[in-house]
Amino acid sequence: MSEPRLFDAHTHPRPLPGPGGYAPSGADLSLCSGSSPDDWEKIASLSSEDGRVLPCFGLHPWFAEKAGPGWLKKLEGFLRGRPSCVGEIGLDKAADTGPGPQMEVFRAQLRLARGLARPAVLHCVGAWGPLAAALREEAPPVFMVHAYGGSPETAEELAGLGCYFSFGADLLKAGRIKARRAIRAVPADRLLFETEGLSGGGLADVVSAAAGILGERPEVLAGLSWNNARRFLGGLFPDVFR
Ligand SMILES: [Zn+2]
Repeated sequence: MSEPRLFDAHTHPRPLPGPGGYAPSGADLSLCSGSSPDDWEKIASLSSEDGRVLPCFGLHPWFAEKAGPGWLKKLEGFLRGRPSCVGEIGLDKAADTGPGPQMEVFRAQLRLARGLARPAVLHCVGAWGPLAAALREEAPPVFMVHAYGGSPETAEELAGLGCYFSFGADLLKAGRIKARRAIRAVPADRLLFETEGLSGGGLADVVSAAAGILGERPEVLAGLSWNNARRFLGGLFPDVFR
C-alpha cells in the first residue's frame, strides 16, 4: 500500500528551497495564503512554478487598514486570474486594527468569495461571536478556520454552518489544552492539518500529535484529511488530487 499523502491547509509564501522545490514541511500539497497585496504576486508565481502550491489571496485583519485604495479590485483580479481560494481573512481582537475596519474588510472578502464561489481560509482570535454572525449572513460556499482556537461549543456552531477546521503547531505544545479539547469536538469529515508556526519538524509531526490525542492511527488521519481537503477545494484543482 502506498504512503498516505499529506495536505497542508495553511502556509505562507517562502523561498523555493533548492531542487526539492517548495513543500519544506513535508507536504504533498500546500494551501499557501496571502496576507496583503504585498505578497499576492509572490504566491501567484510560486503556484505557477510548483503545482504543489495552491494559491489563496486575501487581506489579513492585521493589515486591514494598510492595504491602500483599490485593494479589493486588485484582489478580485488575482482570484479571477487562476483557480484560487480567498485567504487569509478574518477578525483578530488582539490586532492594532480597529474592529470596525476589520469587519468591513472581512465582509467585503466574504462577499467576493461567495460571488466567485471560492473556498475561504479564515483567521480568528477572540472574535468568535462576530465571526459566526458574519458567516451566518454572508458565508462563502465553503470555509475553514485555520489554527482553530475556539471552544468545543463554537466548533459545533461553526460546523453547523459548514466550517472545516485546521489544527497545527498548538497540538505540539503541551500547554495548549484548548486546541486538544477542540480537536475532539470537530467532526471527522471537517478535519485538516497545517504547519504555520511550527518551530521544527513538519506536517507528519502534527498528524502524529493529533493521532495521539484522538486515539487514531496517523495514516488514517492523513488519509482522512486528504479526502477532506479534496472536498473542501470542491474541484478547483482537479488534477492535483488524482
Ligand atoms: Zn497565517
